[in-house]
Order: sequence, then structure tokens, then C-alpha cells
Amino acid sequence: MQIVVDLTRCQGYAQCVFLAPDVFELHGEEGLLYATAVPDDQVERVRQAAAACPVQAILAGEGVSAGAR
Ligand code: SF4
Repeated sequence: MQIVVDLTRCQGYAQCVFLAPDVFELHGEEGLLYATAVPDDQVERVRQAAAACPVQAILAGEGVSAGAR
């Protein structure tokens, strides 16, 4: 699974960091870092994180890439 986060939408609510701390990391107020390739054991957590993001900034799935918006 791959993920792309639309950082222009992300408001730094950190729901994703809370739900999948191995994949998402917040640096400072709005500096979200994330792993674009999700390990298999993190897929369910990332699904939950994507569903929980208040601004739907997380795109997750196979074949998702930064250019695919
Ligand atoms: S849950 Fe959404 S808005 Fe919050 S830090 Fe993650 S991507 Fe950004």
C-alpha cells in the first residue's frame, strides 16, 4: 500500500500520528512526515488514520502516487 498526504489540506490535527505512529510523524505545528510505502503490518492502521483525518488529506491505496490527484 502507498500513501500520499495532501499537505495543503493537512491541518496538523495529528489523528494519523495517533493511529499509526510508525507511519506518520509530526514535526512542529504543521510539518507532517510520513512513509510513502506502508509496511503490510501497518495497512489497517493507515486505513483507520485515513478515515479519521478530519480534512481527508490522506490518500491510501495501491498505485497511489504524488502525481495521481
Ligand atoms: S490526520 Fe490529517 S490533518 Fe491531521 S496530521 Fe494527519 S493528515 Fe494532517
